[in-house]
Amino acid sequence: MTLAKGYAAQSAVSNLAPWNFERREVKPQDVQFDILYCGVCHSDLHQVKNEWGNSMFPMVPGHEIVGKVTNVGSAVKKFKVGDLAAIGCLVDSCRTCANCKEGLEQYCTKGSSPTYNGLEQDHKTPTYGGYSNSIVAHEDFVLHISEKLNLAAVAPLLCAGITTYSPLRYWQVGKSHKLAVVGLGGLGHMAVKFGVAFGAEVTVLSTSSSKEADARKLGAHKFVVTKDAESLKAVTGYFDFILDTVSAEHDLNLYLSLLRTGGTHICVGVPTTPAAVHAFSLIGGRRSLAGSLIGGLPETQEMLDFCAAHNIVSEIEIIDIKDIHKAYERMLKGDVRYRFVIDMATL
Ligand code: NAP
Ligand code: ZN
Ligand code: ZN
Repeated sequence: MTLAKGYAAQSAVSNLAPWNFERREVKPQDVQFDILYCGVCHSDLHQVKNEWGNSMFPMVPGHEIVGKVTNVGSAVKKFKVGDLAAIGCLVDSCRTCANCKEGLEQYCTKGSSPTYNGLEQDHKTPTYGGYSNSIVAHEDFVLHISEKLNLAAVAPLLCAGITTYSPLRYWQVGKSHKLAVVGLGGLGHMAVKFGVAFGAEVTVLSTSSSKEADARKLGAHKFVVTKDAESLKAVTGYFDFILDTVSAEHDLNLYLSLLRTGGTHICVGVPTTPAAVHAFSLIGGRRSLAGSLIGGLPETQEMLDFCAAHNIVSEIEIIDIKDIHKAYERMLKGDVRYRFVIDMATL
């Protein structure tokens, strides 16, 4: 065992605070690395506050993890000491089910091991995430990142990046499509970058009129303030795809009305309460309501390589770990431009 330092929530009502815990001994196929930066995902906030009802405490959040390898097991082939390395939302899975064999570990039918707020594959040992100084995982769940990119700005690719890249690739969103991105936060701003890179016409649907200039800088072609009924009317029946990254309750029926006949609304945001969808919102235009969860390991590596080739990173604000609660408060107000990243040197 090695001693690790982190920030943990001890319960759904306690603030995050310094906490020491143990990381496992490096096994032959394990990679250990020092965490240099960790992105702050809205899922961290949902889970710290037990908003999805499945939280396990103590909880060390964080699943957008980048750093430098300090130790490798005797059988490790992919990494050597000193390499840059990253971990996203998963640290293991059963590896034997049909989905795992296809590289869709996020849909492991036996239950994958999330990077935090979950259990290792022994179904006993809790996992602890990236608000900490080091991590150990099987090399198959550790990713390569390019030396060329700003390391801190790469961190959010590990969740916000792959969660938006994966559905856009699955539904083959590209040149002939009109894509709406709902919510310009961590996930939303990455969705804009990927949508533009894949050749789609991208519209941001936002509650914050103050984000228009940023949206255009990110490459968005149009910007609609969803509180403005007139602007919404102009895009009724307009979109082929809607990628919905909203973290709070919102009216899906309203957004479904913006899809053309046969269009697809893809949920990636996970509000605390279930949505009420009227069947008429779907049947009128033979519309589909779909969802997508993060991404598997091969696709996450593909996304990181795509980002390196196209010079794509996240727009970030680096924070001191002591300011994590201020960051959460701003996140709740939709005031994230566009991902907080913890500088782990401040731990
Ligand atoms: P975030 O940075 O806080 O962004 C969410 C954005 O949603 C806000 O910036 C805001 O954008 C918009 N929004 C907030 N409240 C709203 C409301 N009441 N009505 C309409 N829009 C609202 O959060 P994030 O880190 O991108 O995460 C977004 C959601 O995705 C969270 O629920 C998270 O848990 C989930 N998530 C899912 C997956 C997955 O695998 N499916 C992976 C990661 C995260 P505007 O100011 O532009 O309106
Ligand atoms: Zn996340
Ligand atoms: Zn599996």
